[in-house]
Amino acid sequence: MIQIAIDGPGGAGKSTISRAVAAKLGIVYVDTGALYRTVGYFVRSRELDPKNREAVIGCLSDISIEVRYAEGTQHVFLNGEDLGDRIRTPEMSMYASAVSAIPEVRAFLLETQKDIARKNSVIMDGRDIGTVILPNADVKIFLTASAECRAKRRYDELIAKGQNVQFEDVLREMNERDTQDSTREIAPATAAADAVVFDNTGMNLEESVNAVVALIREKTGFAGA
Ligand code: C5P
Repeated sequence: MIQIAIDGPGGAGKSTISRAVAAKLGIVYVDTGALYRTVGYFVRSRELDPKNREAVIGCLSDISIEVRYAEGTQHVFLNGEDLGDRIRTPEMSMYASAVSAIPEVRAFLLETQKDIARKNSVIMDGRDIGTVILPNADVKIFLTASAECRAKRRYDELIAKGQNVQFEDVLREMNERDTQDSTREIAPATAAADAVVFDNTGMNLEESVNAVVALIREKTGFAGA
């Protein structure tokens, strides 16, 4: 069993790179942001303010989240329903970021994440994987890139999905979310002391994936499951 932790700000390529590395190594890719997005989605559906701590805590007992994997793809079920791409909008990014600053929400999602890593060899991405969820991970990478580069990737991704967005709005929202995520009191998005910081500004997907796989092999000797 192997545990690889990938943390970093939005748009650094965490999910795309992790998914590709997982496929290459034959391990499970775990997208933990999807769990916070799912809580955000539920809070939105109840028309609650995601920054209202009491209100958000009050609805946690009505939420049941289940994660399943089918052919290498993660599916998150909210009260039995697969939400698919409904959690992938810029609005849900902001809801996820707001609810993720609430300690009770993090505690609520902790065991689900640890349990997946106990049962599978994983590459798990998020904001606190190397610091909180998998403190003993075999490899920890803090993936980052310049703000413009990250916003451009996120913008291209949203446009490809047919969403009607402006680059300036994507950049502004991303900066807001990064500030919120990295300055919060609980589990701020920072590199673990023993993480390798990898800045992939200007690198394409293949170059980034090869660099990450090389790092994993160098650190662990793991050549694939
Ligand atoms: O990675 P993604 O953009 O899907 O994450 C959405 C939000 O969920 C992040 O902005 C962050 O606030 C929160 N998050 C977190 N801890 C994680 C993963 C995501 O706080 N491990």
